[in-house]
Amino acid sequence: MLDLERRGAVASLTSAHSAEGFRLEWDAPENIEMVRESVEVFDQFAEIVGLPGYDVAVEKHGYLFISGPAGPAYRPARLQERVERWRNLGLTDIEYLTGDQARDRFPFAADAVEHAHFRAGDGFVDATAVARGLVVSGRFETFVEAPVAAIQTSNSGVTGVQTAGGRTVATETVVVAAGPFTRQLSERAHAPLPTENRRRHGLLLHLAPGLVDPSWPMVVDADLGLYWRPRPEGIFVGWEKALSWDQLPSEPADPVPADFSYLEQVRTHGRRLTRFWHDLPFDQVTWHTGQYVAATPNDGRPIIGLHPEVTGLYINTAYEGRGVMASPAGGRLLVRLIQGEAGAGANPFRVFSEDRGNEPDGMVL
Ligand SMILES: Cc1cc2nc3c(=O)[nH]c(=O)nc-3n(C[C@H](O)[C@H](O)[C@H](O)COP(=O)(O)OP(=O)(O)OC[C@H]3O[C@@H](n4cnc5c(N)ncnc54)[C@H](O)[C@@H]3O)c2cc1C
Repeated sequence: MLDLERRGAVASLTSAHSAEGFRLEWDAPENIEMVRESVEVFDQFAEIVGLPGYDVAVEKHGYLFISGPAGPAYRPARLQERVERWRNLGLTDIEYLTGDQARDRFPFAADAVEHAHFRAGDGFVDATAVARGLVVSGRFETFVEAPVAAIQTSNSGVTGVQTAGGRTVATETVVVAAGPFTRQLSERAHAPLPTENRRRHGLLLHLAPGLVDPSWPMVVDADLGLYWRPRPEGIFVGWEKALSWDQLPSEPADPVPADFSYLEQVRTHGRRLTRFWHDLPFDQVTWHTGQYVAATPNDGRPIIGLHPEVTGLYINTAYEGRGVMASPAGGRLLVRLIQGEAGAGANPFRVFSEDRGNEPDGMVL
């Protein structure tokens, strides 16, 4: 088995720019299960991949969603209702907190916080370490700086892969997992894919020690979708609806350009529910720019499985903002499908042309 990567390192295009968070708070039971299984893999990573002592830096500091008074909200967060719904789905370890309870437990929560929910078992994982661990331990060979130019097909399906350097690899099975470039590669093999890319930014703010407690959780302003988490350097901030282009489909890009007006948006709106935001200097910033890939119409689920129009062509993409936290279970599902151990018909993540008929997952930020 071969893994062909265009860049100089695996997981360096989108995955390296992620906030590296994982959470079980999703609407769709299959999304919850996919992350739950993936977290179990993170928990036992060294043992599962057979690399004793290998560390993927799992930290379970929790996810705290907070909500405040009406303002520039783009949707009603209804945190208490969500917690009830999860309880009915068997996800019983998410605590609902009033504003006062949230402030008692989390000193950064501002006076404007009215509702919150918290799940202590959520957390962070080192995405690069996960990818490298899989590369080192997997029974496949990885070639970096090996761009794929085309997937070759005949009437009977996939016949090979052609690299940009002009080499051909003969094969009857190809997985396209090229992030924002997946649709382009798939279309070149005459296999249309219903996905769209949207630019996403994150900011790593470098801060003096003491301003942020490294044991704090991921914090999500559930009204806005703005989130932040402690990092050894300071905090990582992201916001998926900060600017008008956030919601517009964009061509695949590498690198993804930064829009500096994003920084001002984050600086202004982050103050709403987080007490120390006023004190944050935004003068030492590392930009993290990437693209989310989403199914269209967007039902909030990745696309994993055999392409119905080209025999041997498998797709693994459209994880939007959860391609790190869901990737181990998504990868396992893909392997089961390739090996014929999972029924494609019942697969809610299957490749589709018009609509999968899934109820959209409202927990996509
Ligand atoms: C700001 C931000 C914050 C995020 N936060 C989180 C988070 O907290 N938790 C979470 O789970 N997810 C998060 N995500 C989402 C997550 O990063 C993505 O879902 C995930 O990285 C997608 O992984 P991927 O392997 O599909 O794509 P990528 O990481 O983009 O990998 C695709 C690979 O394919 C290669 N490639 C492309 N074209 C070719 C070609 N022709 N030939 C060979 N190789 C090719 C690329 O070079 C790249 O290495 C975030 C994303 C962003 C941008």
